[in-house]
Amino acid sequence: MKLIYDDTQDMLIDELINLGEKKFRATQIFEWIYRKHIYDFDEMTNLSLSLREKLKKYYDIGCLNIIEKQISKDGTIKYLLQLQDGGFIETVLMIHDYGRSLCVTSQLGCSMGCKFCASGLLKKQRNLTAGEMVNQVLTVMADTEQNITHVVIMGTGEPFDNYDHVMDFIHIINHPKGLAIGARHITVSTCGLCDKIKQYANEGIQTNLAISLHAPNDELRNQLMPINHRYHLDDLREALEYYIEKTNRRVTFEYILLKDINDSLIHARQLAHYIKGLNAYVNLIPYNSVEESGFHKSQNIEAFKSELLRLKVNVTLRKEHGSDIDGACGQLRAKKVGNKQ
Ligand code: SAH
Repeated sequence: MKLIYDDTQDMLIDELINLGEKKFRATQIFEWIYRKHIYDFDEMTNLSLSLREKLKKYYDIGCLNIIEKQISKDGTIKYLLQLQDGGFIETVLMIHDYGRSLCVTSQLGCSMGCKFCASGLLKKQRNLTAGEMVNQVLTVMADTEQNITHVVIMGTGEPFDNYDHVMDFIHIINHPKGLAIGARHITVSTCGLCDKIKQYANEGIQTNLAISLHAPNDELRNQLMPINHRYHLDDLREALEYYIEKTNRRVTFEYILLKDINDSLIHARQLAHYIKGLNAYVNLIPYNSVEESGFHKSQNIEAFKSELLRLKVNVTLRKEHGSDIDGACGQLRAKKVGNKQ
């Protein structure tokens, strides 16, 4: 059965019309779900009984099961959730001074194969539906009884390998009658699928784009991130020039600092050279150790950052969240259920 959260408002309107219902019912249903946080069609009292029966027949509704919850000293909460088909996913809530941000998972497993990442320990089993992403937001809101103000699609999975569902997800949570999370508070993070970056540029939305770069030259990036064999750094730059030109938005480069791998001053200079002239900034990420990967956290973070600053690169250092819990993507899941679904 279909999850009611899979529908954008336009999709729901079409489906209701097919069921012989009026268009405005879609707004009412959206309000029940996303404004009043009601998880039972029977409680949607301004809908006719017959419509409620139809909804029960065609749609599932209700939060995901919380299998485990780890709460960090800094307020970060890491959730292990179970999907309807039994699959396990992680979702992480981070508390910032500017708001409450949720890191959403977009695929069950991931096939991008980045060498340092724990998410890829489970190969992609399937894409999540838009509703399964929406439900991560609803489940955490219900559990914490608080709003979520920001969403980053940076959990397990490659969002641009699940493009259409991710776009539906964005439209649902951004809709003024839905959760109304502002486009500028929504960030998609990609390892660099260039054709999809261009498609995203043409969407006409004001959401943010983050690029997982992690290496400033092709030789090293080929070793760390297999996607670089398909799209070289030149291709990526060209796609980003197109994106920036089309959207007038600033791009974020994520750069995990890995000890003795990509953290020398030479790498910093190559990175500065690569992004020169792009409307972009660099977010340096302290590596969250993944036992199986063999990579370690850099000891050279401050020097790397200073070199970028000296070269006039806009750079920030990502604050570590939940380092006392299984903070790295996919780690809680891997520990709990292994690398099987
Ligand atoms: N596939 C997308 C989104 C998921 S990964 C992407 O590549 O952007 C989200 C971010 O977390 C990426 O920048 C990824 O490289 C980073 N990441 C993965 N494992 C990490 C770890 N152990 N420590 C710190 N960051 C990590």
